Amino acid sequence: AAKANGRNGYQFYSDELSQEIRRERQLIERLTVAVADSSFELFYQPQIELSSKRLIGVEALIRWSEAPPSEFIPLAEKNGLINQISEWVLKTACQQISDWRDQGFECKVSINLSAVQFYQAEFDLMYADIIDSYNLPPDLIGFEITEGTLIRNIDDAIATVSRLSDRGFEISLDDFGTGYSSFSYLKNLPAKTIKIDKSFIDDLATSDLDANLVSGMISMVHSLDMKVLAEGVETTEQLQLLKQYQCDSVQGFVFSEAKNAKDFFEWLQVFEAEAKP
Ligand code: C2E
Ligand code: MG
Ligand code: MG
Ligand code: MG
Repeated sequence: AAKANGRNGYQFYSDELSQEIRRERQLIERLTVAVADSSFELFYQPQIELSSKRLIGVEALIRWSEAPPSEFIPLAEKNGLINQISEWVLKTACQQISDWRDQGFECKVSINLSAVQFYQAEFDLMYADIIDSYNLPPDLIGFEITEGTLIRNIDDAIATVSRLSDRGFEISLDDFGTGYSSFSYLKNLPAKTIKIDKSFIDDLATSDLDANLVSGMISMVHSLDMKVLAEGVETTEQLQLLKQYQCDSVQGFVFSEAKNAKDFFEWLQVFEAEAKP
């Protein structure tokens, strides 16, 4: 019986594997077309400062009708499509910032950087040139790199982050707590903000361990003279605890999910009207 099961098991796995490979091939084909046509959308998720209850910026998050970014971004990184996607994201964000400025609305937009582009020689120069071509002040652009990207090559990463930061761009360290970076690295990293990963926020209100961890992380980040943003905040209980722990700002469904520019702007009108005393 064991043998038969093994055979069936093998058959099952190989079918599943070939199905997965087929889906991946199809996605790569469609993604190649999407890149050529720029058929993506850029969504914006508000970042709220807790002390003032005000918008301090938005994170730009790419959307594609066929798959979520967690699926197609890694695929694009493996198949040489990430550079074109990243350039589209940067230019779309710059155009949006510029359109908002024309309407009298100044809003910092943070862009996620892929490890692949981050470690390309002179990527920062190319990016600075593009941003210059939109005549934007650098403080309206932020860059997010994940802790995983940072620790891949810590010395190069610190050098690149330093150059970006010297040019006036704000750097955030994304998904903090998931990448095993040590505080001795963080000491030398000219990032302005550390973003605590959603996985630590999820059980904040139900687990003493997670609550202690988050509260400790916030104190340590503050002792390095950086700001803390909590990612993926969904409930008012989590929000209350984060306030209590002196967390600087938050992002999450408790305020808003990522929305297209028009819906975000409408959300902001309501949010600001409600925030008035
Ligand atoms: P990330 O940079 O850590 O972005 C945060 C993710 O958490 C986003 O997922 C956001 O929609 C989601 N999120 C925010 N608040 C909540 C919440 O309260 N609850 C829940 N359940 N989720 C929340 P999204 O947009 O699916 O993006 C996933 C990841 O894909 C991002 O993680 C980032 O690593 C990558 N990504 C997204 N857009 C881009 C892009 O333009 N370029 C690159 N290179 N990567 C991107
Ligand atoms: Mg991010
Ligand atoms: Mg994150
Ligand atoms: Mg993430």
